[in-house]
This record gives sequence, structure tokens and C-alpha cells, in this order.
Amino acid sequence: MSGEAKTAAIQNLGCSKNQIDGERVMALFASNGYDITEEFFLADTIVVNTCAFIREAQEEAIDTVLEMAALRKAGRCRTLIVSGCFSERYRDKVKRDFPEVDVWVGVNDWEAVISSLIQKNSLTDNSCDTASTLPSSPRNTFIAADFKRILSEPVSTQHIKIAEGCSHKCTFCVIPSIRGKFRSRSEESIIQEAKWLYEQGVRELILVAQDTTFYGRDIKTNLARLLESLLKNTKFPWIRMMYLYPQLIGSDLLKLIASEPRLCPYFDIPLQHISDTILTAMNRSPLSGGIRQLIDTIRDTVDNVTLRTSFIIGFPGETAKEFDELCRFVQSTRFDKLGVFPFSPEEGTPAHSMRPRPRAVTVQMRCDELMDIQQEISREILENKVGNQVQVIIDRISDDPDFSYEGRTMGDAPEIDGRAFIQAGKFEIGDIVAGKIIGAGDYDIYVDTQTSRRRDKI
Ligand code: SF4
Repeated sequence: MSGEAKTAAIQNLGCSKNQIDGERVMALFASNGYDITEEFFLADTIVVNTCAFIREAQEEAIDTVLEMAALRKAGRCRTLIVSGCFSERYRDKVKRDFPEVDVWVGVNDWEAVISSLIQKNSLTDNSCDTASTLPSSPRNTFIAADFKRILSEPVSTQHIKIAEGCSHKCTFCVIPSIRGKFRSRSEESIIQEAKWLYEQGVRELILVAQDTTFYGRDIKTNLARLLESLLKNTKFPWIRMMYLYPQLIGSDLLKLIASEPRLCPYFDIPLQHISDTILTAMNRSPLSGGIRQLIDTIRDTVDNVTLRTSFIIGFPGETAKEFDELCRFVQSTRFDKLGVFPFSPEEGTPAHSMRPRPRAVTVQMRCDELMDIQQEISREILENKVGNQVQVIIDRISDDPDFSYEGRTMGDAPEIDGRAFIQAGKFEIGDIVAGKIIGAGDYDIYVDTQTSRRRDKI
């Protein structure tokens, strides 16, 4: 290998938080002289950054490792590394089944292990010693002050991690056992990374954590104060938050979002269910009465608000009665955005042994039914907005030849929500442009942009 540039590539799986972790892993390679490539067959080192949240994620992790293992055998790749939650959770169990994998690293030891192997040139001379796992680095490695990342597309919008881990005890969830207790990142470190992101052309900053509303409890501050600091110390025209736990959305946060035009009036609140029986079995709070009250308060306090939620379908104990209650709740509440996930019984969680479980075919039918209800609601909501003026952030040049650009409104988060298609105009990625909604589909809208455009002027 001497003389040749070393190259590394990563396949990121799972959520936006894992994506950021993967970007940090690639930054470690880049800072050690590696070229980063998106072409796996050109990479000397391939990293598969896995998720293990539910069974589908675990299956996807295994499939991807197998796919990359084939490249490891046939291609230029000399080292295959598996990182992330699946590796953290299962590496001791599955190591022997994947002899093509050279290195298994977890969410805490990845930096120490990979750094050491790079220093010793072990990644390029086929001498990785996976048995000699190094002492774990501190558990805060993904929220450390050293925030270097290799950013993924689109650069118009990027997530920023404000904490790691989770201190809730939802009975279906493995995250606390993989990622540990909630640890807030320091405000100083978040601002530092946010400023750097702005310099890279990012115009929408999205705050993420397992529970964003929990921010600051361990370091004597809170989310509202962090937002005020971000507003004061950075120039982002749009700041969005994801993963708000319903119990912890306080009036200070609501008032701030209501009064500050740079904060997207967008509430992503995974509610998981509405039946008190199921919420109690899930160890979630508040129960149904508190959830309904919270939604009313949000809608009374914040204008033009977008509500997004997600539900777990088929949790043990969910009969037709609980599911009907959920359908009625969705019909009456009319969420703007909604996602459903079939219950995944995860080993090591209390819900794994709970019974009775609805049959898989029933769960799938319930998921489809709820999404059919939501599809109609979404289309009606969007059709009612035709004629309205909106602001759209330009994410990318459209792959669809009928359109010039794809972007999003303040009511749409990247990847999970709808898109705004723009037919004409000449814009740059990250521009925020004014336009009129001229059409709507089930989840997407079509926007006619005005001739004047507004770059962030803040
Ligand atoms: S809030 Fe509940 S579902 Fe979300 S990460 Fe924490 S334990 Fe898991």
C-alpha cells in the first residue's frame, strides 16, 4: 500500500443520530490522511455503521455486512469494520458468524480502537487484532467538543447532536442499554459546531437527541436556554428540533417557539400510542388525557404549527379496542405527519416477555389501516393549503425532469416528511425562497416561486 492514497468509505444505517456518528468516524479517517470515497469498491477500508433499534434494523445491518463482506473478498477492500448499535449489542454473539469482518467496534470504544489501528497501520496491512480490544474511551465520544464531521448531502440542512443516551425506561426500547444514560453536550460545544456548520453552507440546523426536551437536566440548563443561545450566537434562518418527549414540553419552550420566527413551528412528538392501557404497559407518560391537553396547548400557543408523531402498532395487550381508540384519536387530532412502526420484541427489554401479542398479520393490517387514514388526512391538509404563501429551503436539484429543484417548508423535516417541488427559477442549495403552493399530492406540494428570492439575511 505504501505510496498509494488510503481510502475509506462508510455505509450509514439507521437514524440521523447514527448518521452524525458515521460522519465523525469518517472525519477520524480523513484527519489521518485517508481520502473518503462513496465508491465502496475503491475503498481500502469499509465501515458499516449499524442500527439495532428494531428487528428490521438488525436484519438490514446483517444484509449490509454480508454485502460489504463480498466486496472484502472480491474488491480492493482490506479491512471491514462494523460499528454502531448492532455491533455494540451483538458483537460478542455474532463475531464468529462473520469471519470477513476484521474489526467490531461499539459506540464507546470506536475512537480508541480505530485510532490505534490507524496509527499502527493495521488497517492496511491486514493485521487487525480484533481480540485486543482497547480500553473504552469516555462514553461521551459522539458529543465531545471535538466535533469534526464529513458532512453528508444535502448541505442545506444538517442535524446536530445535543446529547447522547436516554434516561427514560420505555419498556420496548433497547437504546438506554446500548447508549447509556442521558448525557447533555455542553452548550459551548454545540454552539461551536453550529457555527462551523453555518460556515459550511448549512441553513437549517436540526437539534437531535434521544429525547431533545431532556437537554440540560444533568448540567443545570434546559432546551429553551440552549435555543436562545443558538439564536443569539448563530445566524441560522431555520432551527428545528426532533424527538420531543411529550411529558417535558414546557410553557417556556412553547412561548419561545411561538415568538421566534427562526424556530420552526414544528413539533415531532413520538407518542407511541393513545390507549392508557398500552401507554402504561409501555411506561410512557403522560397518559391519554395529558397528551390531548398538550396538543390543545400547542395548537393554542403556536401559530401555523405542524404536528408530527409516530405510533407503535401491535404492542402486547393491544386488542381491537385499543387500536380503534388509536384510529379515532388520529382521525380527530389530524396530525400533519405521522409514522407507524410494528412492535418489535427486543431481547432484554421488559416488553419482550409481555403477552398477549397480536398476530403479525393483524399488526400489518393495523399499520396499513392507520396509514390509509393518515394519507387521506395529509392530502386534505395539503390541498387546503393550495394558494398559501410559503418559504422553501432549496435542498437539491431535482432528479425529476419536470422540476428544477426540491426543497421543504418549515413544516417538513428532511427524509421523513414531504417535499416541495419547484418548476422554475435559479437558486443555490440552501437558499430560502418565497413561493405560492399551486398543487398538492398525498405528502408533497408544488410551489411556484416568485421572481425575487430571499437568501438568509439574518
Ligand atoms: S424515550 Fe423511550 S423510546 Fe425514546 S430512546 Fe428513550 S427509552 Fe427509547
